[in-house]
Amino acid sequence: MLLAESTWPEVEAYLASSRTVVIPVGSTEQHGPMGLIGTDAMCADAIARRAGELGGFLVGPVLPVGMAQSHLGFPGTLSLAPTTLIAVIRDVVSSLYRHGFTDIWFVNGHGGNIATIQAAFAEIHAARSSRQEEPALQLTLASWFDLPGIRALLREMYPAGHGSHATPSEVAITQFLYPHAVKSATLEPRIAPAGGFSDAADFRRRYPDGRIGADSSLARPEDGERLLEAAAAALCNIVKCK
Ligand SMILES: [Zn+2]
Repeated sequence: MLLAESTWPEVEAYLASSRTVVIPVGSTEQHGPMGLIGTDAMCADAIARRAGELGGFLVGPVLPVGMAQSHLGFPGTLSLAPTTLIAVIRDVVSSLYRHGFTDIWFVNGHGGNIATIQAAFAEIHAARSSRQEEPALQLTLASWFDLPGIRALLREMYPAGHGSHATPSEVAITQFLYPHAVKSATLEPRIAPAGGFSDAADFRRRYPDGRIGADSSLARPEDGERLLEAAAAALCNIVKCK
């Protein structure tokens, strides 16, 4: 059930039997020469929607812009400051909580969002604790690539060249979802260098084409479909079986 395609009476009826809602959160940032700028939002949105179909729970609209400061050296990247993203998460949670949602999941597609979303949860819980607010509020962060079984599947599918940014897995999911937007590029070197970085300028210096440790050209749409289904099933399982 999609929030955007529901009416308020339908949401009210849903709340009579469930307090669970899933909000996808992504990023709008460069993903190397062949990965789409919307990759993280597209992956999180599709996995959440598919899991919602499987499990019959409510899925909200994707939050498409995340904390992508380190990608700002590349044109097209949009970034929220950590404090802005914290405020967005807090306001989304307080809107949902007002209606009675007490089991709120954020399905994330961008590693760079993790620390900020966790900080948002800490801020929300801290404010509620000081007011001794009831009933209890359960906030859960689930990055799709960290869902149960997914890391093992990624190792099996990509024994070399998966890397950590502009990965063939995320590119494959977008190829499956958006076949009209599949891009190709000559990748040099084939597997990008791996390592850390500090700010946006340092990122661009170390990773001139935007990839980290990844060979994006390993992406295949049929593998994207398999990954999407596996991640959605894993998400459905933890949301329903929690
Ligand atoms: Zn990504």
